[in-house]
Amino acid sequence: MREFVYTGHPARVLFGDGALAKLPAEVERLGLKRALVLATSQQGPSAEMTAAALNEKAAGVFAEAAMHTPVDITERAMARVHELGVDGLVAVGGGSTIGLGKAIALRTGLPQIVAPTTYAGSEMTPILGETMDGVKTTQVSLEVLPETVIYDVGLTLTLPARLSATSGLNAMAHAVEALYAREANPITAMMAEEGLRVFASALPRIVTEPADSEARSDALFGAWLCGTCLGTVGMALHHKLCHTLGGTFDLPHSDTHAIVLPYAVAYNAPAAPQAMSRISRALGVKDAVLGLRELALRIGAPKALRDIGMPEQGIDRAAELALSNPYWNPRPLQRNSIRQLIADAWAGAPPGTYA
Ligand code: NAD
Repeated sequence: MREFVYTGHPARVLFGDGALAKLPAEVERLGLKRALVLATSQQGPSAEMTAAALNEKAAGVFAEAAMHTPVDITERAMARVHELGVDGLVAVGGGSTIGLGKAIALRTGLPQIVAPTTYAGSEMTPILGETMDGVKTTQVSLEVLPETVIYDVGLTLTLPARLSATSGLNAMAHAVEALYAREANPITAMMAEEGLRVFASALPRIVTEPADSEARSDALFGAWLCGTCLGTVGMALHHKLCHTLGGTFDLPHSDTHAIVLPYAVAYNAPAAPQAMSRISRALGVKDAVLGLRELALRIGAPKALRDIGMPEQGIDRAAELALSNPYWNPRPLQRNSIRQLIADAWAGAPPGTYA
């Protein structure tokens, strides 16, 4: 007999190639007259084009968004919001830009229209991580959920192949952990399995041909599905490890997810057999751990934490932090096994069983 709890969040989603052309109508729909367009400095030129398309409804551009939502940058953006009399936010970018929009929305209640350009999935979650004095804290608030999300496949065509691979694996990690989450439920599981399936098929095609718009469309659809999973259930060991490693050693977000995923899944596999069979089915493989690792290697994701800047002396510290204040996990955390897992991920060794 089925028994479950599912909590959905409100979301207006527009999806398609060229969907950003509907931005002026969405701005109108929300009654915005002075929107601030947000971006990273790298995506500043495209933010200027977005602002130009809004004519007098754009109050300006703030193109200083950065990874992990540093509070000092949010404060600079807040000064612009007040100075320009901003009444809404338009974020065009990946998780960093979307994080800045969420941080401003949390402080002001301003409505947000978000057009994601990576597969990280932040646009579908009520989660905001912010960094102050090198410490990242995460909170959950419905206030940070965007009013409208515009998935325009065209915006993702410029995402470099390597970043597409790691960003896609970052999204897949949300779906994987949703399948064995404490709040796992059949609605989220459907989205998780489909999200894994579309990414497993799309990522190799994107890496071969980054301009393949069908593959890009599949991946962006997967990003929506996997982001929704992240927004509806809690995450476990994998996300705790990535949060800890990224924050402590300042490692790139999606690279860290891409490397750690097969190891975290190997650790949890004995405690989550149903999730493993759903992952295997979605990937079309016999073994979930090997399937995830082979996919990551095939699409050129980095293999080892040592290759992205984690020092070997950090292994013990990472194990200690992963065990302090842990997230709920389907398998109890054992210190020696977690240390071994991190050591293997550091070296890029084949994932073990961590018994
Ligand atoms: P990102 O937003 O930092 O983007 C990475 C780089 O790629 C940036 O330089 C960016 O300008 C560039 N870029 C992005 N899209 C591009 C495109 N289409 N073409 C060319 N360049 C492009 O990376 P991310 O991985 O999307 O986001 C990471 C951040 O998001 C982290 O701070 C992470 O904690 C956060 N995040 C939050 C949630 C949440 O639910 N709160 C979920 C996932 C990620």
